[in-house]
Amino acid sequence: GATIGILGGGQLGRMLSVAASRLGYKTCIFEPGGDCPASHVANYHFQKGYDDADALREFAKSVDVITYEFENIPTSALDILEEHCPIHPNREALRVSQDRLTEKTFLRDLGLTTAPFATVDDADSMTAAVAEVGTPAILKTRRFGYDGKGQARLKTEADASAALADMAGAPAVLEGFVEFSHEVSVIAARSIDGQVSCFDPGENVHEGGILRTTTVPARLSGSQRMDAVLLAGKILNALDYVGVMGVELFVTSQGLIVNEIAPRVHNSGHWTQNGCTIDQFEQHIRAVVGLPLGDGQRVNDVIMENLIGDDMERLPDLLAEPAAALHLYGKSETKAGRKMGHVNRVTPKTS
Ligand code: ATP
Ligand code: MG
Ligand code: MG
Repeated sequence: GATIGILGGGQLGRMLSVAASRLGYKTCIFEPGGDCPASHVANYHFQKGYDDADALREFAKSVDVITYEFENIPTSALDILEEHCPIHPNREALRVSQDRLTEKTFLRDLGLTTAPFATVDDADSMTAAVAEVGTPAILKTRRFGYDGKGQARLKTEADASAALADMAGAPAVLEGFVEFSHEVSVIAARSIDGQVSCFDPGENVHEGGILRTTTVPARLSGSQRMDAVLLAGKILNALDYVGVMGVELFVTSQGLIVNEIAPRVHNSGHWTQNGCTIDQFEQHIRAVVGLPLGDGQRVNDVIMENLIGDDMERLPDLLAEPAAALHLYGKSETKAGRKMGHVNRVTPKTS
């Protein structure tokens, strides 16, 4: 059978490997770390760095298609990999989503609504950005931010210099603060021949910048649901995208505002493992190997809860809960803020 190369060895890579295995594929992960979640289930592990050109070449030659579980793959590594093997989702999806400024500009140019934003590189551009965007606002690093890291909030103009200092010189984007009623996300998939399939939108609750729970069905009207799915399809088509993407949205009285996109399977799509016949991981594998997409229809109501850090102390209680489907990542060390697993609580479908 064919072998799928996966860049990154975290929990997303692990769950992608499991889905690939279920469809009869082998997986080979490229991950500098040793005892990582995906290494326990993948067939092969290139434990090498992204600066090792020979290892990247050997990896690319040993697999039939390459995908990834994180978006911060160095461009230099992509150059080498692409010479030997197709990569899905494509370079353009990575280029757009690696940088918040590029991403927000792309979304706005597509005709979608984003928070007002302005680029910030230094004190002068910060002053101009605050004048343009107003306060309250959030300053975010353009690259490498996740789980709310690399962000500083401004209540008023007076917070500007402290927020800028928090960026430690990294290029940033100032975003106007969106007064949303709640947050939702669409997990969307597109196949090689352009078929698009979206999972039902999930409603997301964050705590301290980290996703806490995702609930389906989300509180959305029929037309909001339709808007969410259509805008996700628009993004995937514009990128000629192949694979699964997470699209995060703010729900406001003025309509849906796109927060960010992630060119990969997404934490807020973990509910699909117990809420759909075909989950996001299988859908992604199907897409990248060129198979038709499966039926992503939701068959249950689900609340997905992330197990973060000390939450693992509740494991005996979780195991005693009859309808709690546990998904643990096999991480060797528990740390505050670290995602250790998640639990899907399933109930019969209400709507
Ligand atoms: P992720 O782990 O989802 O990649 P991230 O670090 O990229 O997170 P964002 O998704 O941009 O960060 O922001 C994290 C959370 O902060 C959002 O889900 C939302 O709750 C809040 N937030 C971000 N931007 C705004 C905004 N412009 N207005 C209001 N709230 C915001
Ligand atoms: Mg993000
Ligand atoms: Mg986010």
